[in-house]
Amino acid sequence: MKKNYLLTPGPTPLPPQVCESLSRPIIHHRTPQFQDILKEAHEGLKYVFQTKNEVFILTSSGTGGMESAVINFLSPGDNVIVVEAGKFGERWTEICNAYGINCEVIKVEWGKAVDPLVIAATLKAGKGTFKAVFTTLCETSTGVATDIKAIGQVVKDSEAILVVDAISGLGAIDLKADEWFCDVVVSGSQKGLMLPPGLGFISVGPKAWKLAESSRCPKYYFNLKAAKKAYASTDTPWTPAIGLVIALNEAIRMMKTESLEKIFAWHNKMAQAVRAAVKALGLELFAPDAYSDVVTAVKVPAGVDGEKLVKTMRDTYGVTIAGGQSEMKGKIFRFAHMGYIGEFDVITGISCLEKVLAQMGYKFEMGAGVAAAQKVFLK
Ligand SMILES: *Cc1c(COP(=O)(O)O)cnc(C)c1O
Repeated sequence: MKKNYLLTPGPTPLPPQVCESLSRPIIHHRTPQFQDILKEAHEGLKYVFQTKNEVFILTSSGTGGMESAVINFLSPGDNVIVVEAGKFGERWTEICNAYGINCEVIKVEWGKAVDPLVIAATLKAGKGTFKAVFTTLCETSTGVATDIKAIGQVVKDSEAILVVDAISGLGAIDLKADEWFCDVVVSGSQKGLMLPPGLGFISVGPKAWKLAESSRCPKYYFNLKAAKKAYASTDTPWTPAIGLVIALNEAIRMMKTESLEKIFAWHNKMAQAVRAAVKALGLELFAPDAYSDVVTAVKVPAGVDGEKLVKTMRDTYGVTIAGGQSEMKGKIFRFAHMGYIGEFDVITGISCLEKVLAQMGYKFEMGAGVAAAQKVFLK
């Protein structure tokens, strides 16, 4: 029998409390019983998003939250700025294009982070015509973290709203939605929040609500005005994913008990261990100047088949990491350390990596990666 370990940047492993909560009988949602649950979820999400704004729970994957962030605030023909530093930045452009919104794309080399000054200059050149700036907290395709705090300073006094895709970063690295002037923050359930896929989240601040008044994009299921009206009476416009909301409360209870501060410190430690391990194996980080504590992208060494490496780890040994996407296919692998991951998951993942690298003929000192990770954990 093969034991499986999930070390991908979504979905991430589920804590036992979450698994248990998912096995309970279903209840009806238009009941005081579910209202209590929803109230707890709304409050819990405010804690995780570090916001006073409403955070809406959508029954969709994270991309449903991204689509909501486009169609509720904008109109066809509007001009927006999109930061494209990888696959998920590109998704903003694709959604905007689908609704006839014009994108001024700031292209950033994969593996690098956007310079907030470039956003400032682009906004300035637009002379007040840009309605939104779309960014990504952690560009999961490259493992790069974006300096949202600095971008918030740049966007706050402009006419544009700042929209952050925090799908993979939320609950793993710091994002102070209110303090950093994020008008709209989007997330999803299956990454830092330790849940199965199926929920999208979106927080909306006053500047974005103001823009919503003039929005003419077509919308129905993701109409946030309907969601806001329902929210006011602790309700949802459609049938919510009741079981997942119950599980969400379990996950957030765990997070509150631990505290965000400790959770971020913990992710930092795991990321340090992974970075130290791959370096000790003679491997190179893909984003040495801008890595995140969410997922680590590593260059596949010369002579090694990157796709086969990932496939062998998964199919032969049950350790699932992620390969590269699009232009990085076969060239990098991505080792995630977000959500319900502990130091021995990291050790297991690194030791499996060593084993398969050795089988593929890559030369290194066996055990060096594990030892380097252990040293970080001992500190
Ligand atoms: C996973 C991810 C998404 C996509 O979310 P889905 O839940 O697959 O729709 C979008 N953005 C980022 C940064 C992600 O990591």
